[in-house]
Amino acid sequence: MTADYWPAKERLAQLPTPMHRLARFDQSLDARLWLKRDDLTGFVLSGNKVRKLEYVLAYAKRSGVTRIITCGGVQSNHCRATAFACAQLGLACHLVLRDTQGRNVGGNFLLDQMAGADCSIYSVKEFASGLPSLMSYWAGIYEAKGEVVLEVPTGASDGVGIWGYAAAAFELIEDFQREGISPEVVACATGSGGTQAGLALGFALAGYEVDLVGYAVCDDAAYFDRKVAADIADWRRRNPDVRLQAPLRYRTVDAYVGAGYAKPGEADLALALKVASTEGVLLDPVYTGKAFYGFTADVQNGLASNADAVFVHTGGGFGVFPYVNEFERRWSER
Ligand SMILES: *Cc1c(COP(=O)(O)O)cnc(C)c1O
Repeated sequence: MTADYWPAKERLAQLPTPMHRLARFDQSLDARLWLKRDDLTGFVLSGNKVRKLEYVLAYAKRSGVTRIITCGGVQSNHCRATAFACAQLGLACHLVLRDTQGRNVGGNFLLDQMAGADCSIYSVKEFASGLPSLMSYWAGIYEAKGEVVLEVPTGASDGVGIWGYAAAAFELIEDFQREGISPEVVACATGSGGTQAGLALGFALAGYEVDLVGYAVCDDAAYFDRKVAADIADWRRRNPDVRLQAPLRYRTVDAYVGAGYAKPGEADLALALKVASTEGVLLDPVYTGKAFYGFTADVQNGLASNADAVFVHTGGGFGVFPYVNEFERRWSER
């Protein structure tokens, strides 16, 4: 971490985050499970996006930017974290949001508005077919008023944002040393690929070899293999002189996507309740619930047999509130 290639960042996240064992939960498993608590990077500024925004918003400030435009679903954790980070740094913020039929109130969207972000909601169709032109449409409007705009891609996943998870990989290596473990697997949820790309980059920069597995919550493994490679290629373009100390190593598992993005299965919801009640840890229905379900299913099938395995908890807690009906149905059926 002391290497001179490391760019300056804004301090937005509470770091380092804790890492601890899930000793009750893993009793029935043939592996020792650990949780890296990136859900605890803050409160309104919480979850994995904050680590990426530390670098993206520092870059924005250096470049004289006055307004951030970014995008995601109406319940996007990334958009909520960006809205609050912009408010903290005195930047204006516009969110280009994809309609999430029936879940357009409460949760992260309430918080976006409280943080003063300008929000515009588009249908799934408009968003899918025209996101880049929607972003540049709004950029044009603000630029005509004399504002300096930075368009931040989905999840702040690009060659700047992934520095945040490269730094997190170095923090994890310190956690492993402190606990005296050398994990066989490090796993995370993958939604826009930046967390996975950053961790792969960080382990390669540090020369640390480990099986890094991203659990897709949408799309498929081929898509994420391309997206992670593209984010790292963007990073290389921006940092041509920085040398990796080990080969890049990552893979994506898409076997647990289920019905699609933000559509948790019954087993994902059941596991979230089990983890909340046995370990006092909140998983969310969109990302960590689904990914942790896949990860523990793979552990049951022999991934990390008799070894340590680490799951990076990427946050998403406010995402439980739009799913109140699904959770309530589970108590009434008990
Ligand atoms: C965005 C998000 C992810 C996925 O991270 P990416 O870097 O976009 O792949 C995982 N978990 C939560 C809670 C998120 O909000």
